[in-house]
Formats: sequence, structure tokens, C-alpha cells
Amino acid sequence: MKILVIGGAGYIGSHVARMLADNGNKVSIADNLSTGTEENLFSDYDFYKGDILDYPWLVSIMKHGFDAIVHLAAAKAAGESMIKPEKYATQNITGTINILNAACQAGISKIVFSSSAAIYGEPKYLPIDEAHSKEPTNFYGFTKLEIERLLEWYDKLRGIKFAALRYFNAAGYDIEGRVRGLEKNPANLVPVIMEVAAGMRSKLEIFGTDYPTPDGTGVRDYIHVTDLAQAHCKALNHLADARQSFAVNLGSEKGLSVLEILKAARRITGRPIPASIVERRPGDPAKLIASSCAAKQLLGWEAKYSDVDTIIATSWRVYEKHLA
Ligand code: UDP
Repeated sequence: MKILVIGGAGYIGSHVARMLADNGNKVSIADNLSTGTEENLFSDYDFYKGDILDYPWLVSIMKHGFDAIVHLAAAKAAGESMIKPEKYATQNITGTINILNAACQAGISKIVFSSSAAIYGEPKYLPIDEAHSKEPTNFYGFTKLEIERLLEWYDKLRGIKFAALRYFNAAGYDIEGRVRGLEKNPANLVPVIMEVAAGMRSKLEIFGTDYPTPDGTGVRDYIHVTDLAQAHCKALNHLADARQSFAVNLGSEKGLSVLEILKAARRITGRPIPASIVERRPGDPAKLIASSCAAKQLLGWEAKYSDVDTIIATSWRVYEKHLA
């Protein structure tokens, strides 16, 4: 397939693009390089630099003719979304509307969309399956939910078939060590811990130790980015074969607390990784764990690399080179 990966220079997008190309697809990347990096662009890709808010640019690149789009271009810091909702409304929702409209104009009818566990909000039961109520507690999650709703309408009215992949907490780096671009100003736990370990920032702030969890810190389901990339390949194949839209959770089905991740990182990196406890971050649920049964049944997908040691070791292999 000829695939346009929008946001393909970014953290998750670069892993997805590499695996799609490895599987014999012709990959083109569209990215504004605001959070993505040129280091993630491999020589076998075509690259188009531009912004999804630039509608004429989107229309012009889609004229190159693609069988499918993978859309990962979004702002993704849940905490920041509560302080800068305008940024998230514009980049995530308006940006996606532009992509959908340009795709319709170009006659592209398959899209894989990066959705998020953040659409569910505070869990009413665990593990969270796809039927769980959707009441996001942060604005980032709201934008992802709104986009899923848009996708349903574009399916009904314009025949666009979509896969909404609801990532839990993406972490780790390419198992084969090829993707090496660091995230710019990360806000997520694992890259923040890696930056502290590498001496790029002074300490980790632990956002709250008074959650109703065994050690009081937030519990999340960390899913290795190579597992996520695999799921995108399977989702595209399923869309091409079945011609039916779907939404699935992608998680490891296991929960890890902030302190458990920190402990593993100290052990694996051998670095002290200073940390202090601060207030809870607004909009953070206590505990998120996925049921990935639907992805297993529909796509034959399950997590293979999402144990904490593999997540930390593959991340550290990339960050270690930047030791201050
Ligand atoms: N977290 C933290 N310090 C940080 C970043 C994150 O304590 O600098 C916690 C956060 O409160 C949550 C977990 O780590 O319990 C995962 O947060 P992250 O931002 O990585 O992902 P989210 O679940 O918010 O999408």
C-alpha cells in the first residue's frame, strides 16, 4: 500500500512508519517537525514538511495518491491541555477536520487514527473495555473523543473507513534500536524519567501520592511503542480486507505505578534519578488498565514487548547517548 503517515517524524509515528515500510509499504511522511525530528526520517521515505492547519498544503500533498492515511499529528500532554485548551482544540480537532476534508477531496477512504485511553475518564470498572462510558477528565481526552465522533459521521456520510486505536500509555523505543529521535520537551512519565537519568533535567516530580492505589501514585497501562506499531500494520490490513470501521484499545492489560516505573528505571540505568513529591496534576485519573480482548479478536494482536524492563531498557539505550 502507499501510505501517508501524518505526524510520522514524531515519537509514535516514527515507529509506525518504520514498521509499515519494513512490511513492504511505500511510506510518505507529512510533519511540521514541531515535536517530531528529522532524525526520525529514514531515506526510503518521501517527506512533506507542513502543517495540518494549512488546508491547501494538505490538499496538494494528497494529490500524490495514497491508499491510506495514518494520522498521528496531535498535541498529547493531558496536563497542558487543561491550561491551554485552545491549542488542543485547534491542533487536534481543527487539524483532523482538515485531514478528513482533504482525504474526501482526494478520494482516500481509509484512515488509522491515534485515539487514547483518555477518552474514558475515571474508570467505573477495570480493565476498561471499548464499551466503557466515555467521560474524559481532561481536555486532551475530550479532543480525541470528539474526533472519534467525527470519524463516525465521515464514515456514514462520506464512506471513510477508520480504525480508532485507543492507546494506553505508549513508552519504550524500537526493539531493533533504529529509531533514535528524542522527544522535544516531553511531559510523559517515561521520557521525563529518562531525561533525569541522563542529566538533562534535575529531578522527577511525582504528581501525587494520595491516589487510591497500592502505593498512592497513579497507575497506568504502559504499552511498548513497537507493540503499537505492530497494531497499526494489522489495523491497516484489516481495514483493507474488511472495509469496516472499528475502535480498539491497545494496552498491555497490566498496571504499573509511578513508583514502580521509577524503581525499575533506577535499577536498569544505575543512575540515582532524584524525585520529589508534588501536588496531583489536574485531570489525572488514579488508575487506567486496558482490556485488549477486542484487538486480539479482531486483529490477532497482543502486546509482546510491554514488560517494564523492555520499556526502560529500550528507552535508556536511546537516552544514554545524551548523558550530560
Ligand atoms: N507523572 C508524574 N510525573 C511526571 C509525569 C507523569 O508523576 O512528570 C504521572 C502522572 O500523574 C500519571 C503517570 O505518571 O499518573 C503517567 O502520566 P503520563 O503523563 O505519562 O501519561 P497520561 O496517563 O497522563 O497520559
